[in-house]
Amino acid sequence: MATRLDGRQLAAELELRLQAVVAERLQRAGRPPGLAVLRVGDDPASGVYVANKEKACGRIGIRNLGAHLAADTPAAAVLASIEKLNADPAVDGILLQLPLPAGLDSGPLLEAIDPEKDADGLHTLNLGRLVKGEPGPRSCTPAGVMALLAHQGVALAGRRAVVVGRSILVGQPMALMLQAADATVSVAHSRTADLAELTRQADVLVVAAGRPGMIGAEHVKPGAVVVDVGIHRIEPDPAAGATAKAKLCGDVRYQEVEPLASAITPVPGGVGPMTVTLLLVNTVASWCKRCGLDQPLADLLP
Ligand code: NDP
Repeated sequence: MATRLDGRQLAAELELRLQAVVAERLQRAGRPPGLAVLRVGDDPASGVYVANKEKACGRIGIRNLGAHLAADTPAAAVLASIEKLNADPAVDGILLQLPLPAGLDSGPLLEAIDPEKDADGLHTLNLGRLVKGEPGPRSCTPAGVMALLAHQGVALAGRRAVVVGRSILVGQPMALMLQAADATVSVAHSRTADLAELTRQADVLVVAAGRPGMIGAEHVKPGAVVVDVGIHRIEPDPAAGATAKAKLCGDVRYQEVEPLASAITPVPGGVGPMTVTLLLVNTVASWCKRCGLDQPLADLLP
């Protein structure tokens, strides 16, 4: 039976650590850390994500300095909000919640965020810092995966890692982080020929393809560590009645892969909670830096 890589539990432990980091430094800093989650429009899923992030901030002593703009806000006004947050000394982290309403291009808006306040770690400068191994905010989801692997004591040096997916959000930074940890990394994508042949070579398999249940037993080497980044909401069969609830599933067919793997993340409760925690880590790390304090979180920013 595979070890369950429990992101919910690790996220709760890391929140206690962050709480202590903030409490111990609050007096010297003279102000609490501040995170601004900027939401534009009313995408319902985003509403849930933003609420989760705001609650998590409250638990560890980060001030929530977010704003919610109407769906028809022009790009220039969103840009002005970002510039205001960049200039606000109380703000240590800024996150532009995606997706944006149709007609707003996320690219230039994300680039307008001060790289030192880039809570999502997705600014071009910060991706460049990751490539060069320089410190900086890190992309939250892959950094969360690295924290889960480290917590479980998964050895990476010299081992084969395969990442399925090459997005800027997950796959690319994931591959860079695994490589920085001395794994030998291959990246698969939609044009990869014979995916199963490649993924079966993996000691560590990270799946971020956004395809529900695409990875099954035929893709996994016995004893591999399997990390499922995918998250999908499956609506109930109308025939199951009005009380039937939607379910979440990942890119991995858990029931089929779990007996083969040495360790595996569940969905939900695996990578998802770690993504939120890393947002807090980036914000607190930025606060320490901006307040001239020591940096106690470097082990979480690979
Ligand atoms: P994208 O759609 O941006 O990227 C998907 C990647 O998977 C692409 O590189 C694509 O290849 C590749 N891919 C698609 N189909 C296949 C296939 N059949 N075989 C091999 N590769 C394939 O998705 P994201 O990276 O943004 O997200 C991936 C998943 O992770 C989604 O389910 C998303 O919801 C989830 N997610 C979860 C988070 C969490 O906190 N748990 C956070 C972020 C994302 P190509 O480049 O060739 O198109």
